[in-house]
Amino acid sequence: MRTLLLNAGYEPMMLVGWQRALCLVLSDKAEVVEEYADKVRTISTSYKMPSVIRLNRYVRFVTCFGIAKCNRRNILIRDHYKCQYCGVACSNRTASIDHIIPRSKGGTTDWFNVVLACHDCNRRKGSKSVKEAGFKLRSQPIAPSWRELIVAGYANIDSTWMPYVEKESA
Ligand SMILES: [Zn+2]
Repeated sequence: MRTLLLNAGYEPMMLVGWQRALCLVLSDKAEVVEEYADKVRTISTSYKMPSVIRLNRYVRFVTCFGIAKCNRRNILIRDHYKCQYCGVACSNRTASIDHIIPRSKGGTTDWFNVVLACHDCNRRKGSKSVKEAGFKLRSQPIAPSWRELIVAGYANIDSTWMPYVEKESA
C-alpha cells in the first residue's frame, strides 16, 4: 500500500510506503487526509492505513512538483523499460543508462541526454554519438512530470489520490 504525500498546501509530492506515512503522522510531521479501509494492528492499538497525508510544515521540494528527478529508477519508468535504440524490453537488471552525448564529450546527466539502453546497445554505442554509432533514438527524450511517472510507474492509482493529482496537472 502506498500513500500520497501532499505538501502543506495540498500539492502532491510523492508516493511513500504506508509505514513511512504512518511514521510521519505519529511523529506529528503530517496529518491524515484520506484513509484506506484496511487497518494495521500493533500490540496495543490499531490504525487505519493512510492513503493521503499532508505535511504540517511546508517544505521546498522542487523536483517532484513539476519535473521529476532524473535518476535511474525514473528513467526506466519514463522509457517504459524499453531500450531506446533497439526497442528490446529490459528489466531493472538488464537496463543501463546511456548518455546520448557521451560524458567524455561533455554530455550531462539530465532528462534530455539520458535514455534507457540495453547492455548490448550501450556497449556498442560506447563513447560514440548516436550518429557515429549508426543508432537512431526511438523517441526524443523528454523531462516527465512527477504525475506522468506516477501514472506510468504505478498501475494502481488509488481513487482517493485523484482530486490532488488532477489539481496538480490542471
Ligand atoms: Zn538495445
